[in-house]
Amino acid sequence: MGRILVIGAGLAGLVAAERLSDAGHAVEVLEASPKAGGRCRSYRDTRLDRVIDNGNHLILSGNRAVLDWAARIGGADRLVTGEAVYPFLDLASGARWTIRPGAGPLGILRRAARPPGISAAALGRDAARLLAARRTASVADVIARGPAWPAFWDPMTRAVLNEPPETGSAPLLRAAFLRSFARGAGAVRPVFAPDGLGPALVDPALPLLEGRGVRIRYRSPVTALRGADRLEVIETADGPVTFGSGDTAILAVPARQAAALLPRVEMPGPGRTIVNAHFLAPESGLPPVLALLGGAAQWLFRRGDVVSVTVSAAEASEVEGLPREATLARLWRDVAGAIFAHGGMVPDAMPVARLLREKAATFDQSPAGAARRPVVRTPWPNLLLAGDHVRTGLPATLEGAVRSGLAAARLAAQAA
Ligand SMILES: Cc1cc2nc3c(=O)[nH]c(=O)nc-3n(C[C@H](O)[C@H](O)[C@H](O)COP(=O)(O)OP(=O)(O)OC[C@H]3O[C@@H](n4cnc5c(N)ncnc54)[C@H](O)[C@@H]3O)c2cc1C
Repeated sequence: MGRILVIGAGLAGLVAAERLSDAGHAVEVLEASPKAGGRCRSYRDTRLDRVIDNGNHLILSGNRAVLDWAARIGGADRLVTGEAVYPFLDLASGARWTIRPGAGPLGILRRAARPPGISAAALGRDAARLLAARRTASVADVIARGPAWPAFWDPMTRAVLNEPPETGSAPLLRAAFLRSFARGAGAVRPVFAPDGLGPALVDPALPLLEGRGVRIRYRSPVTALRGADRLEVIETADGPVTFGSGDTAILAVPARQAAALLPRVEMPGPGRTIVNAHFLAPESGLPPVLALLGGAAQWLFRRGDVVSVTVSAAEASEVEGLPREATLARLWRDVAGAIFAHGGMVPDAMPVARLLREKAATFDQSPAGAARRPVVRTPWPNLLLAGDHVRTGLPATLEGAVRSGLAAARLAAQAA
């Protein structure tokens, strides 16, 4: 059996390394950064003196591959599943409502699951058009600009695709919709990681892999891949890695880096920025998750005394172009409004805060970008691809990343 080299220790790479080492393969991992986890990592922030995630992530109970992964590595007890209850606040009008999907496929059409003033018929019509969307359609091409647009489809598209409806791919939104809301309450319960995503989805995998003899070489960026009919040399910052004739590699780096290393294979371009702001706000009175309309902030997540704001597709939002302090001040205004609306204690001034901007947080999830997603196999028989940009049928999500790692591991096991 040949050796397997995994390039990238994000979720996709870790999943592949775990599966393959469990099946008895000799696995080595090359990771560019000093830490595993990639876009899903936790760290102690010195300014806040709290552990925060690089980005707020919403995991749903329907994300079976992610939850199975957590259980497999011993991280499941660091996850807590909430109820399928999504409070909304319109900051402009002060209106508040809660979406409570019912059981089963029609559960999203019941009154308690709909934003106020939106009929089941109107929502059903939109859903039917989304289900029938062509590959080249954007969300805006298929969804009518009725009352459900600002209250449901626009925020949902930004949250799921990190694109506004005008550019987000309708089939990608459909894929997420079919695995979540279309399955009813059982699939859309939010899954929280009270200690952070790292302790649940990344950290427990590291001693497990180490125990199986898998070495992760941190600070080892792969700089080039060379070969004629097959991959022959992997160049790293520390020099070339010899690649034996029976060896297989899995390239589990984001689309942008994969495109640079493998220019022969079509890849989607980089997608948009996600802005996260974290504020220390004890006694905020806020629920663990809150959807916001009518402001710059789109979602609030509260973990203990840290209130975190997400702005997806930041280039198409109010905070685009604002400097750091102005962005924090703008988002704090929305957070303070939400705290006030929930009867919490609004601090006199903006509290200690951290702003994180994840550029190209996802690949380009427009119809054109989605059409460029690569498959797991490459023209080199001994090189496979993994990562959320690989053609899984799912948007750029943790679920897609895990499933891509599983697919690459299956093919690598056959090749080795
Ligand atoms: C702010 C933010 C919010 C998000 N919100 C959600 C959400 O709510 N729900 C959800 O499901 N998903 C969400 N996502 C998406 C999710 O985080 C990603 O889909 C997932 O983490 C991708 O995993 P991956 O393994 O494919 O890639 P990555 O996590 O990017 O891992 C790739 C790894 O490769 C390494 N690497 C890169 N170049 C090289 C090189 N040349 N040599 C060696 N190593 C290299 C990187 O350092 C990294 O560790 C969010 C992402 C961000 C950034």
